[in-house]
Amino acid sequence: MILLNFEELGIDALLISGLPNVRYVSGFTGSNGMVLVTADRPILFTDPRYQIQAKHEKIGDFRVHLVRSGPLSHAVARVLAKTRYKKLGFEKGRLTYEQYLALKEKLPLNVELVPVGGVIEKVRMVKQPAEIEKIRRSVFTNSQAFEAAKKRIKPGVTENDVAAEIDYQMRRHGAEKAAFETIVASGERSALPHAHPTRKPLAKDELVLMDMGSCQNGYTSDMTRVLFLEKPKPRIASLYRAVLEAQLAAIDSVREGVTAERVDRAARIVLAAHKLDKQFLHSTGHGLGLEIHESPRLGKKDKTVLVEGMVITIEPGAYLEGVGGVRIEDTILVTKTGCEVLTPTSKELTVL
Ligand code: ZN
Ligand code: ZN
Repeated sequence: MILLNFEELGIDALLISGLPNVRYVSGFTGSNGMVLVTADRPILFTDPRYQIQAKHEKIGDFRVHLVRSGPLSHAVARVLAKTRYKKLGFEKGRLTYEQYLALKEKLPLNVELVPVGGVIEKVRMVKQPAEIEKIRRSVFTNSQAFEAAKKRIKPGVTENDVAAEIDYQMRRHGAEKAAFETIVASGERSALPHAHPTRKPLAKDELVLMDMGSCQNGYTSDMTRVLFLEKPKPRIASLYRAVLEAQLAAIDSVREGVTAERVDRAARIVLAAHKLDKQFLHSTGHGLGLEIHESPRLGKKDKTVLVEGMVITIEPGAYLEGVGGVRIEDTILVTKTGCEVLTPTSKELTVL
């Protein structure tokens, strides 16, 4: 069990209800689970559907408490009521209001519910070596899927076809699923940073933007690439080069001790020099791991100091309405002296 400073948090017990956090601390991957951490043995609450799974998956010293009827939070309250603990921390960003009320309803009046935020998420920001290996594998699978799907991209094929091929290849190469809904946007539609793929066929004079991530052994990866079906017009080619320059500058700025906002600024400075900073509509990147979006956020105001073992994306982009957009994204590992780009896929301007 990870070490938490309860004194600093002003609590003597913690209820972990966010499923990725439950998985992180206990190993349990089911869809109904909560963990109660106190000075005693930690308890994993789940229902009988997961009896066998919980027994096999749980890591460390966990006691599995099967809840046969009613919400898990009722069972948590009943167990806690029999103990000496009086200040129960709960994850304010993860517990629903309904679960909160259920908990409150069954807790003795002298037990206080204390909202805490991002406690496990903060620990999760810095990855353990075993987690880094899983992310590395997920990134590799994602890139293999891209190479395989690339062969099917040609004029006349729809965005939906490309997205389906990408998802199929991810699974074929070892992913259990896509980490998020695969984005495929061609031509003008690539100016929408989060476009859903449509039945629109790809045209020869268009670029195609693909943003894809695998989920393998629970760990995610994230990559965006832009491909061309014929030699791009000078305006689009220079847009591509500017975004790539910004991405490389941001990667260059990454190392332990640097703040997240400084990495974001490195990308913005380059795009501003190309008069594209106003067309850069999102932050430069985000942490990833068990979830596709984790802390830190590499945005304008994030003062998080990067530490060796964090895994983040670097993904600047520029979007021109009526023309198209370019985003280039890699998954990278922060090291003491710099970073390691985990994504092996080429970023050279590629005409298929
Ligand atoms: Zn992405
Ligand atoms: Zn991303």
